[in-house]
This record gives sequence, C-alpha cells and structure tokens, in this order.
Amino acid sequence: MAPTRPRVALLGATGSIGTQTLDVLREERERFDLIAIAGGQRLAELAVIAKEFNVRDVGVVSARDRDEVRPLLGPDVNVVVGAEGLAELATRADIVVNAVVGFAGLPVTLSALSAGKRLALANKESLIAAAPLVNKVRLTPGASILPIDSEHCAIHQCLASSTQNGHPDVRMIHLTASGGPFRGMSKEQLGHVTKHDALQHPTWTMGPKITVDSSTLMNKGLEVLEASALFGIEVERVNVVVHPQSIVHSMVEYVDGAVLAQLSLPDMRLPIAYCLGAPVRLSHAWGQIDFGQSFSLAFEAPDREAFGALDLAYEASRLGGGAPAWLSAANEIAVEAFLNDQIEWSRIVPLVADVLEQYEADPIDTLEALFENDATARRLAHGMVPR
Ligand code: NAD
Ligand code: MG
Repeated sequence: MAPTRPRVALLGATGSIGTQTLDVLREERERFDLIAIAGGQRLAELAVIAKEFNVRDVGVVSARDRDEVRPLLGPDVNVVVGAEGLAELATRADIVVNAVVGFAGLPVTLSALSAGKRLALANKESLIAAAPLVNKVRLTPGASILPIDSEHCAIHQCLASSTQNGHPDVRMIHLTASGGPFRGMSKEQLGHVTKHDALQHPTWTMGPKITVDSSTLMNKGLEVLEASALFGIEVERVNVVVHPQSIVHSMVEYVDGAVLAQLSLPDMRLPIAYCLGAPVRLSHAWGQIDFGQSFSLAFEAPDREAFGALDLAYEASRLGGGAPAWLSAANEIAVEAFLNDQIEWSRIVPLVADVLEQYEADPIDTLEALFENDATARRLAHGMVPR
C-alpha cells in the first residue's frame, strides 16, 4: 500500500506565494495531497486549481464569491466563506500554508497552531501583530511554525547548531535586504519616486503589498519583528545588512565568531519546499547556484536616515504590547492608499510614524484586545489619508 501523503491546505492560493507553492506541489505530487485552497480574488483561477489538484474544500471571502465560484466547481467540492471558513480549512490538513496577505491571514495562523498543525508561514503580518497570542497557541502539542519568508527560513536552517532556548550562543542575527529599487537614493531623490518605480523590485517578483514594503524597507522592519517573534530573540540582536544580490538569505553569527549563512538564487520555491518537506529535503533543486560562473557578493549598511521604516520597527518593538500591531495595520492602510494614488510614496512611512506616535501602552493578551488595537490603528491611519 502506498504511504499516505501529508494533506496540505494552501490559503492564499492565487497569489505570488500561492502559485509558487503550486509549482512545488506539481513537482512533488507523490509526496503531498493538496486538499484545501482559499483565495480573495480571481475566483476562476481558484476553480482551475481546485480541478487540477482535485481539491475537496475551497474558501472564499464572501457569500457573493461563493455564489460566483460554486457553478465552476464539481458537486463534491465544499465551499466555505470568510474568516471562519479560513479557520476551518486550517484545521483539516497536516500542513497549512498561510499565503494570505496582511492581517486577514490571522485566522489561518491561530487556527492551524491551535489545532496542532505544521504552519508553513508566509503571512508575516499575522505573526507580528499577534505575537503574544501566537506564542501561546504554538505550545499546542504537534504545532510548529516553519517560516517561508526566505530570510527566516535561512535563519531557521542556520540555527540548527544552536540548541538552547533563547539562543544564548547566538551573538547576532544578520537579516539580509536587497535594498529594494531605491537603494542608494537620497531623501531628496526619494521625494520624486512614482508607483511604477516602487513596483519594480530588482531581485524578486512578489505581490503588490510586499513589493511596496520592500521599496520603503518596511518589509525589512516587519521582518526584524518577525525574526524576534519566531526565534525568541530580542530585536537588539537582529541586525539588517543590505546585500543587493539576494543570494545570501540571512546569517547567524555565533559567540565564537562563526557566521553561518544559507545561499541560493532568489527563488521562493526553495523555502516553500523546505517548509513542506522538513526535516527531509526534497530533491528538486530550486535556485541552484552555478559555482562554475564567477560572481561577487556585496554587503553594506542600510541608510536608516533615508529609510525611516527600519528605526520605526525597532521602536515598535521597544514599545511592545500592541505597538507592532499598530505599525503593521497603519502600514497596510498607507500602502493601500499609495497603490490607490491617494498618497505619495514619501508619505507612506511618515503616515505610519504619525499613527504610532499616538500609541498608548496596551498589552495584547486577548484576541479582543488585538482586534481593538488593529481597528484603532486603521481608523487613525484612514483619517490621515486625503479623500
Ligand atoms: P499576493 O497579493 O500575491 O497574494 C495574496 C493572496 O491572499 C491571494 O491569493 C489573495 O487572493 C489572498 N487573500 C487576500 N485576502 C484574503 C482573504 N481575506 N481571505 C482569503 N484569501 C485572501 O501576496 P504575496 O506576495 O503572495 O504575499 C503573501 C504573504 O507572503 C504576505 O504576507 C507577504 O508578506 C508574504 N511573503 C511573500 C513573499 C513573495 O515572494 N511574494 C516573500 C516573503 C513573504
Ligand atoms: Mg523576506
């Protein structure tokens, strides 16, 4: 009898991480069984995926989406709706891939961990906003988080030689950043960049929100908070280093001076495959480096003056409590306003800073407290967007 394949739920199946996860699953059909998918838009695409993989459960955002997608699906396919639907799908599989963008990914993260599942996490926003709640549910027997975010996946691999809680043998985590499309620009020059410029990432092709976040370096700021939450290491031990080639995906420096790194060409399918297969390494090589070709690797310090998002993220960590949730929520609104041509690129980070300025200490010890903090930050941010 063939061994049973781990069941996979892929939530956010139509996005950048979603479609790259499908590439990996196509390559590994004998190993994994995709049983559930969900998506926010592009319902026809969702139906095509459901058919190709013979998926049993499909999640959509609204009742209207359900009515639209229902006729496109086979009669045996179950359709669920909204945040509750996402939470339900996350309990059905052995491995849950959270590839939803933004705070909307929260039900997937909390539900998968509470149900004792492996969470392959691309959705950094849910972890950053809900870190204290996530830390509780990740203690559920069987639950684990494997980070898809390439830097964190690299760190996860490099931390294998550190065995103690809190990693006292780690001196510093060095998170690498490509620097985005505006690397090297002065504050003056950054005053004139356009949406078209911001959407051109030099090394990665990604969804629009994270592409904008990469141009402001807010993505790296969020990743500092993500690293701290994932690995239980205070942000003072997380350093950001600009590495324009995006080949070294991050590094761990140990107290004895040794620095371990993970290298590959920029291809998200490698960290996705790692998170699905771990501790087994799947044998298809994504992003393989050709050492027969000569190439150089460069490293430089980020320009914190021109890219204020980095310091803002460290500040949110120092403030603690709901501050990371405020930072992430305000940033979602600012990025959306920028993509809708309501604010200039140079206003994104100052808007987030103006919101964070109004934060007053508030611990996140319940889901209600988190939702309240998220809603307040969004309301304040919306109020700063010209109509
Ligand atoms: P994307 O915009 O390309 O895709 C987002 C997906 O989420 C889509 O399938 C969309 O339909 C779905 N979605 C949105 N709202 C939803 C809702 N309410 N319910 C169900 N589905 C919903 O985004 P992406 O670039 O794939 O990024 C996804 C996440 O992965 C983000 O948190 C991002 O920060 C993280 N990430 C992405 C990359 C990358 O290379 N794209 C790298 C590292 C981390
Ligand atoms: Mg990343």
